[in-house]
Amino acid sequence: MPSIHIIPEELKNKIAAGEVIERPASVVKELIENSIDAMSSEIIIDIINGGKRLIRVSDNGTGMDREDALLCFQRHATSKLLKEEDLFNIKTLGFRGEALSSIASVSNMKIMTGTKKLNIGTSIELTGGNIKEIKEIVTSGTTIEVRDLFFNTPARKKFLKKNATELYHIIDIITKESLSHWWISFKLRSDNKLILDLPSSTFYDERILNIYGKEFLDKLIRINIQDDNTTMDAFISNIDNLKNTRTHQFIFINNRPIKDQLINHAVYSAYDGLIPRDKQPIFFIFLKINPEKIDVNVHPTKREVRLDDKEMVYQFIKKHIKSALVEKREQFVKEFLQKNIDIHKGLKDPQTLNTLNNLHTKSILEVSENFELNYKTSLPFINIGDTFIAISGKAGLTLIDFHAAHERILFERFLKGIDLTSSQLLFPKQIQLPLNEYKTIVENSDILMEFGIHIEDFGQNTIIIRSLPDVLIQADIESILLDIASFILKERTSNIPIKKSIAAKLACHSSLRGMRILSQEEVNNLITELEKTENPEQCPHGRPTRIFFSLDELKKMFKKK
Ligand code: ADP
Ligand code: MG
Repeated sequence: MPSIHIIPEELKNKIAAGEVIERPASVVKELIENSIDAMSSEIIIDIINGGKRLIRVSDNGTGMDREDALLCFQRHATSKLLKEEDLFNIKTLGFRGEALSSIASVSNMKIMTGTKKLNIGTSIELTGGNIKEIKEIVTSGTTIEVRDLFFNTPARKKFLKKNATELYHIIDIITKESLSHWWISFKLRSDNKLILDLPSSTFYDERILNIYGKEFLDKLIRINIQDDNTTMDAFISNIDNLKNTRTHQFIFINNRPIKDQLINHAVYSAYDGLIPRDKQPIFFIFLKINPEKIDVNVHPTKREVRLDDKEMVYQFIKKHIKSALVEKREQFVKEFLQKNIDIHKGLKDPQTLNTLNNLHTKSILEVSENFELNYKTSLPFINIGDTFIAISGKAGLTLIDFHAAHERILFERFLKGIDLTSSQLLFPKQIQLPLNEYKTIVENSDILMEFGIHIEDFGQNTIIIRSLPDVLIQADIESILLDIASFILKERTSNIPIKKSIAAKLACHSSLRGMRILSQEEVNNLITELEKTENPEQCPHGRPTRIFFSLDELKKMFKKK
């Protein structure tokens, strides 16, 4: 008896769906990309229950006539690819003709579509990929409704997460697609509430502004470079505008959001030596590469592309980002020196010298060495580099990482609410956050309140900060909140208690940073306070705060008995 057979069409579609459609956000991605390929200028997305109950994408694009409407959900049905050569010159987002058939096979789907020329459109209802009903309707553009995703593949359905998590992934996809397609207006309604409203823009920068706010955009350096085969529009962090997470890092090739280790590496290598290793730059890199020089047919969800000339692209990105950063820094240093250096006396104060040192510039270090540092120490401690202090005693030598030590002190204070005075802000601060971060902060405002951070929801992705603990008055509260939000979003499924993690984040942000010189009083306080904590040996992340070398150990190191 033969044991080989050809898989029935329906099962083939389910198998294909397994690759392309992982969760509601993948449906949203495919439908939006179809709307974009259909030249739409307006796309509206409706979601119910995180997309598990309903996903509806409506556009004002070309639409389909009846014949196309009946074909579009068939496997390998596409209007975008005709012959083999086309595969190596792809200008559309879709080309495999598998998205609609895949989605249809694992949901209840309704397609309503019509071209602008004809008055009559078509409505087709399907269940699990089989036609239930075909009707004539009056419409132009296309609306596709996807209900009860994975209703017939329970194994898949089981893996779906909470509505809020699925919605988070949907927002992430829409954010990415909207960044590279700035000319299209996007609206997202979730459970009948409008949560994203992006009007058609004039360029990338206006879209970034609409999503992240003016202050965020104003702090980015803009780059626009073109050579024979490649164009790059980039919006990147200056070296003093860094984050603790990689949340705001985006790469697009020919408007397609992608993940690419090589390009990522090129960007980081441009920052190499200019920023601390544990800090992350913001970057939006929009590359346009001749479609004949890339292969987009390498990943089921097209998240990756293969570049013909990797080395060229790598060098192109690295070179132009680096030179933009260097140019910005030189301009800053020039203005800074003009403001702060008195030709006869040298640097005006030690603070100025610190700031200069923080620039990580060699040339700058040379300049500063020519000036006399008027900081004098008569203390039983010395600063070692910009991170440690060394305290000598009869019994031996203690090295203290003062950032870690301060972090431990503040962490315990935050957690126990000790000495945490909080002050009403004279001018309440208004902060606009990206949607997911905004929602997370609002949801957790009770916990923040326990730490003395009083927040009010102002709507439209905006919160108002009414009061702050005194230790945070000087801190960059926006990046603290972003940091906390991305942490909660990332760790929402883990068992780490939120309160403890927030305390650790707050401690980290408000503690003394490396790269400054401590005064005697500060050192004295630090040592006394550290001694009072429950675990003076470790910072909240588990790194040592201090290391002690006994006289005996020191002798051993010097091979003395
Ligand atoms: P692909 O995008 O790879 O061609 P899909 O399965 O996503 O494959 O879509 C199949 C075809 O259906 C498309 O090639 C296009 O012709 C048509 N189509 C899908 N969505 C739309 C839409 N929103 N507007 C107009 N045509 C569409
Ligand atoms: Mg498609």
